[in-house]
Amino acid sequence: NSQYRPLMDEMARFMETPYHYRPLLGFDVSEDRDQVKTVCSPYDRRQTVGTIQWTTAEQAEKAVEAAWKAFPKWDATPVEERSQILERFADKLEANMGELMALCTREGGKLLTDGVDEIREAVDFCRYYAKRAREIFGAPTVLPGPTGESNELFMMGRGVFATISPWNFPVAIFCGQTVAAAVAGNTVLAKPAEQTSLIASRVIELLYEAGMPRDVVQLLPGDGPTVGAVLSGDARITGVAFTGSTQTAQLINRSLAGRENAALPTLIAETGGLNAMIVDSTALPEQVVSDVVASGFQSAGQRCSALRVLYIQEDVAERVIETLKGAMAELSVGHPGKLSTDVGPVIDDDARADLQAHIDKLKGEGRLIAETPMDPEATGHGSFITPTAFKIDGMDALETEQFGPILHIVTFKASEVDEVINTINAKGYGLTFGVHSRNESFTRYVAERVRVGNVYVNRNIIGAVVGVQPFGGQGFSGTGPKAGGPHYLLRFATEKTRTINTAALGG
Ligand code: NAD
Repeated sequence: NSQYRPLMDEMARFMETPYHYRPLLGFDVSEDRDQVKTVCSPYDRRQTVGTIQWTTAEQAEKAVEAAWKAFPKWDATPVEERSQILERFADKLEANMGELMALCTREGGKLLTDGVDEIREAVDFCRYYAKRAREIFGAPTVLPGPTGESNELFMMGRGVFATISPWNFPVAIFCGQTVAAAVAGNTVLAKPAEQTSLIASRVIELLYEAGMPRDVVQLLPGDGPTVGAVLSGDARITGVAFTGSTQTAQLINRSLAGRENAALPTLIAETGGLNAMIVDSTALPEQVVSDVVASGFQSAGQRCSALRVLYIQEDVAERVIETLKGAMAELSVGHPGKLSTDVGPVIDDDARADLQAHIDKLKGEGRLIAETPMDPEATGHGSFITPTAFKIDGMDALETEQFGPILHIVTFKASEVDEVINTINAKGYGLTFGVHSRNESFTRYVAERVRVGNVYVNRNIIGAVVGVQPFGGQGFSGTGPKAGGPHYLLRFATEKTRTINTAALGG
C-alpha cells in the first residue's frame, strides 16, 4: 500500500474540485444551459463532480467541417512532430496522475488501483504508437523495380476519423483510440461515453497543452443517439474507431453503410465478450479461485475481458466452488477511494437495474451459489451490485454479456471437453479465454481450438500489456487489429506508391 501513498495524497487534493466543461471544438462554443448535464458519483449520487455541456447535432456537423479543413496540413506535418506531441502528452498524463485518479474515482467509480493501471496504460499507448508511427510513416519504403524506374511506398492518413469510446476505460481506451488516429495523420472527432465526459475533457486539455492543435482533435461530449449517430451517419467521415457494446457497433455499421455518396468507410470495432475459462481436474483450486476472483470481480466485472462463464471439470468442482465461496465472503464492496475496497460501484443506476434483473431471474430459478455480503451503510447511496455466482447449465443459457460482477458456473465431465469448446465457439463471441490445468498438452489442446483473441493459461484473463499482449477479439467481439499491437496504426492509414521514370530525368 505504501507505493500508493504519495499518489493518494496527490489525489486527495482533487476530491472536491468542481469541473465544468463545454465541447472542445476547433471553434468557440457558447454556453447553452439546455445542454448542460450535472455529473454525480456512482458511489454516492448525492455528490456532484461538476457539469458537462453536451454537443448539439449542428455543432457536431460544424466540427466535421473543421476537421476536414485541418486535415491536409496535419497529414503533411512530419511524423516526428506528431509523435513528439504524443510523448509530451504521455509525460503530462504521468505528471497529472493524482488528479486523473481522483476523476476516475469520482466520475467513473474506479478503484484507485484500477485508476493508476489505466493511466499507465494510456501512457504506454502514447509512447508505443509514437514509436510505431515513426517506423510506419517515416521514410517511404523503396520497392525493387525494373531499371530506369524507381518505386516507393508512402503511408499516410486517410481523412477524418470519429473515435467513439466506452466509459469503462475512460483514460486508456479513450486516449489509445484518439492518439492512434491522430498520429497516423487523420484529424479526429472524439466522442467519449456520456458517463465519463469530464475525464475525457480534462485529458483533452492535457493533449492541447502537449501541442495538439485544437482543430486536429476535437472533443464532442454528448449522447450516443445524437452525437454518435451524427458522426456515423455523416458522409464526410472516413472511418470510425469504436469501442463499446456489440449492439452499438452493429448500429454504427448499419449507419455507415446506409450513407449515400460516401467513400467506403473503415470500421474498427472492439466490442463485448462472453469470456470463458476451462478448469480441469489437475488444476490447483487455490490458484484457480484467486484468478477467477480477479477475472470476474476486479473493476466490478466491468471489463470487456472479464470472466463470465467458468467451466469446471466435475471431479474438482466441489473443491473449487467451496474455495470460491470462502474467497467471495472475504471481498469488501464499497467506496472506491479506500484501499481496503475490493469491489466498487457499477457505472450508473441503469446498469445496476439491468444487472439486478439478471440476478433476480437466476435467483428465482434457485441457481445462486455464492454472494458477497454487502454493507448497506457503505453502499446505500450508490449504484452497487455485489459479486454473485450462479450455477447454469451451459453458455447457451446466456443471451448477451452481463457487464458486472456476475459469474456463471458450469460443470462438465472429462469426456465433454470438445463439446464445451464447441459451445464457446458457437456462441460467436471471441475475446478472452482462460485454461487452468497442470497438464500441458491439455492446455495446448484447448488453447488451439478456441476461436478468441487472447488466451491465458494458468493465470487471470484480464489486463493486457501494450506491445506485450496486443488486445482485441474476433467475431461478435471485434474486427481487430489488436489495440497496442504492431498492426493497429495500419488500419488508420492508407498507402500511396510513387513510380518515377528515372530515365526521363536523366537517371
Ligand atoms: P455502449 O455501446 O453503450 O457505448 C459506447 C459508445 O458508443 C459511447 O460513447 C456511446 O455514447 C456511443 N453510442 C451509443 N449509441 C450510439 C449510436 N447510436 N451511434 C454512435 N455511437 C453510439 O458501451 P458502453 O456501455 O459505454 O461500454 C461497455 C461495453 O464496451 C461492453 O460491452 C464492453 O465489453 C465493451 N468494451 C469492449 C472493449 C474491447 O476492447 N473489446 C473494451 C472496453 C469495453
